[in-house]
Amino acid sequence: MSTTEIPPRLRKTHPERQQEYARLAALEAAEILDTPPESSFDAITRLAAEYFRADAVLLSFADESRVWTKSYWGEPVRELPREGSIFEMVLQADGPVVVPALSADQVCGECSLMLRRLKVRSFASVPVRASARQILGTLTIFGAQPRRPMSGDELRTLESLAELAASQLELRRLRKICNRQGARPQQQSSRQVTGIWPRLPDLRRALDEHQFVLYYQPEVELATRKIVGLEALIRWRHPDRGLIPPMDFIPLAEECGMILPIGDWGLAEACRQIREWCNQEVCEGSLRICVNLSARQFAREGLADHVEELLRRSGVSSGQLGLEMTESSLIPDAPIAMEVLGSLRRLGVSLLMDDFGTGYSSLNHLHKFPFDVLKIDRSFVARMAESEQALQIVRTIVDLARVLGMSVVAEGIETAQQASMLQQLGCRYGQGYLYAKPLPAEEITRLLRCPERIVPNSVSAAAALPN
Ligand code: C2E
Ligand code: MG
Ligand code: MG
Repeated sequence: MSTTEIPPRLRKTHPERQQEYARLAALEAAEILDTPPESSFDAITRLAAEYFRADAVLLSFADESRVWTKSYWGEPVRELPREGSIFEMVLQADGPVVVPALSADQVCGECSLMLRRLKVRSFASVPVRASARQILGTLTIFGAQPRRPMSGDELRTLESLAELAASQLELRRLRKICNRQGARPQQQSSRQVTGIWPRLPDLRRALDEHQFVLYYQPEVELATRKIVGLEALIRWRHPDRGLIPPMDFIPLAEECGMILPIGDWGLAEACRQIREWCNQEVCEGSLRICVNLSARQFAREGLADHVEELLRRSGVSSGQLGLEMTESSLIPDAPIAMEVLGSLRRLGVSLLMDDFGTGYSSLNHLHKFPFDVLKIDRSFVARMAESEQALQIVRTIVDLARVLGMSVVAEGIETAQQASMLQQLGCRYGQGYLYAKPLPAEEITRLLRCPERIVPNSVSAAAALPN
C-alpha cells in the first residue's frame, strides 16, 4: 500500500493520540475553526504589539493540519501549515517558546513559510489553553530584528494576554450554551438521529491510522489509447468494512471540515506518488496527475502556498500536477476562488473544471475562471447515444472549449460507440471503464510500462500487463 511519509506529529504513542483527540474535541467545542479572523480578538493582538513593540502578532488556533489565525497585527496571515510550525514547538514544550535571535539557517528550515513571509528574526510564543488546559492555539509576537532575551515579567505579561484570549473563548462558549438552553431544542442532523456511519471520529481515526488510499484512473487520448494523465480518486480502506467509495464519506468530511486534512493528505500523497513514478522512470514526458479539490479547500487563501510548498518538498514540477474542481465549489465565494485560481495558475499547475455541464450556470462563469481543461460530466456521455439533447450539449461544450482555447476530457466512457461519437465531435481525450477503472498505484505502474504507454485493448488485459 502506498502511504506518504508519516509526519512526526502522527508518529504518536497511544496516550499521545488520546491527548490529541481530546485537544481537537476541545477545539471543536470552542467553534473557532476554519473561519475568518475575528475582530473581537484584535484588542489583544494590538495591545501585545504596542507593549512589546512587535513587528507582527498572531493569535492562532491549530486543527489537525493547519494553523488558523483569528487575529493579526502587522502582516495579514490567515492560515499556515501546521507541520513545522511554532504551534508544534509550543505544543511539544507544553509551554512558552522564546527565540530572541533566529539564525538565517533556522529561518529557512523550521516554520519556513511563516517565518519567510513575516521576515522574522525573533519571536516569543505562549499557549492559549482551553479550560481543561489543552493547548488550543498560541499568541505569538514577532520581530524583524533579533531582540534581547525576555524578562520573567515580560513573559508573564504575554501569558496574561494569552489568558485574556482564552477567557474570551470560554465566555463565548458559555454564552452559546445559554442561548441554546433558552432556545427551542436544536434540530439534530439526520446523521445523529439515525446513527448513520461514518461520523467525524471515524474519519479522524481513518486519517490517523492511514486508512485512506489513492486509486488512479488513466485519462487517454481517444485516437491512440495512449495514457496522457491520471486522476487520483480517494478510497477508504476500512479494516472491517472493506473499500469505501468517496461519495460515502467525502460529503461528511466536507460538512465537518475534515476535508481539509484529508485533502492535504491527498495532495501530499499524490505528489509523493508522482515522485515515485518519476524515480521508476515511468512518467517521463507529459503525464499529468490530477487531484480533486473540494469547495472547502478553496475558501482559504493559503491553498496556493500550500501546493507550492508540497511541490518544492516533493521535487515534483508544477506541470505534472492538475487540480480538478467543480463549478459549484467556486461559486459560493467567486472573488476568493478567482484569487486562488489565479495564484495556482501562476504556479503552473493545470486547472480542470470537473463535471462540466451539471452546474447551474456553467456557461456564464466559464470565461471568468482561468481553466485549462473542461471535463464533460459522465451523465451526458451516458445519454449521448440515445438523447439528441445530450448529444447537442456535448457538441456545444466541445465547440465552446475550442473557442476558449481549453482542451476537453470526456468522463465515464464505457462503450466503443461513445468513444467514436466523441471523437467525431472533436473531443480528443477521455477516461472511463472502456479503458480502465480506477486502479491501485502498483497496477498503474504496470500500465505505464506498456509500450508507448498505450492501454491494452481490453480492460481485462490489465491482469496480463508487464511487471
Ligand atoms: P469525479 O472527480 O467526477 O470522478 C469520476 C468518478 O467517475 C469516479 O468515481 C470514477 O470511478 C467514476 N468513473 C470513471 N469512469 C467511469 C465509467 O466509465 N462509468 C462509471 N459509471 N463511473 C466511472 P469515484 O471514484 O467514486 O469518485 C466520485 C467522486 O468523489 C469524484 O467524482 C470526486 O468528485 C469525488 N472524489 C474522489 N476522490 C476525491 C478526493 O480525493 N477529494 C475530493 N474532494 N473529492 C474526491
Ligand atoms: Mg474529478
Ligand atoms: Mg467528474
